[in-house]
Amino acid sequence: MYGLLKNFYHFLFKFVHLKFSYTRKLSSLALDILTAIIYYNVKMSTLDRIKELEKQQSQILKQILAVRSMLPGAYREVYCKCGKPNCWCHKKGGHLFRRITWSENGRSKTKAIPEEDVSWIKELTENYKEFQKKRRQIKELEGILKELLGEHAKAVIKKSSRLRDYLCQK
Ligand SMILES: [Zn+2]
Repeated sequence: MYGLLKNFYHFLFKFVHLKFSYTRKLSSLALDILTAIIYYNVKMSTLDRIKELEKQQSQILKQILAVRSMLPGAYREVYCKCGKPNCWCHKKGGHLFRRITWSENGRSKTKAIPEEDVSWIKELTENYKEFQKKRRQIKELEGILKELLGEHAKAVIKKSSRLRDYLCQK
């Protein structure tokens, strides 16, 4: 039963990796699932979980380092009425302004951007969000690793103590 379950998880790992390695969003979903499996799967040995975690960490790190362009902030569209007295915008919603807004030292900053840069700005701000998400994931995994290493140390010490009669706890 135990072996079967282990095989099933290994299959699931491979399946999830294969299935979701194509797009960034889905692969981070896959990582969430893998984290959950590693964290809650008590059937898997501590050592296996540590090894799986290591793989996962290096995979995320690779993805983080692959990000070559990013900007903090968000794309916003705002409609403003202008100062011209007879302009159409006073009756209708206003002129469209495209902006990027971000926070710097606790202060909100805004810059107008040209229309042709909209998709570029969106892409770069999306990259930044993804980058930050992956940083949080690495931190989470570090926490899990710390716990697992504690468990692993206990197991190794217990095993070593059994090697000598005088070390055995009775
Ligand atoms: Zn106007």
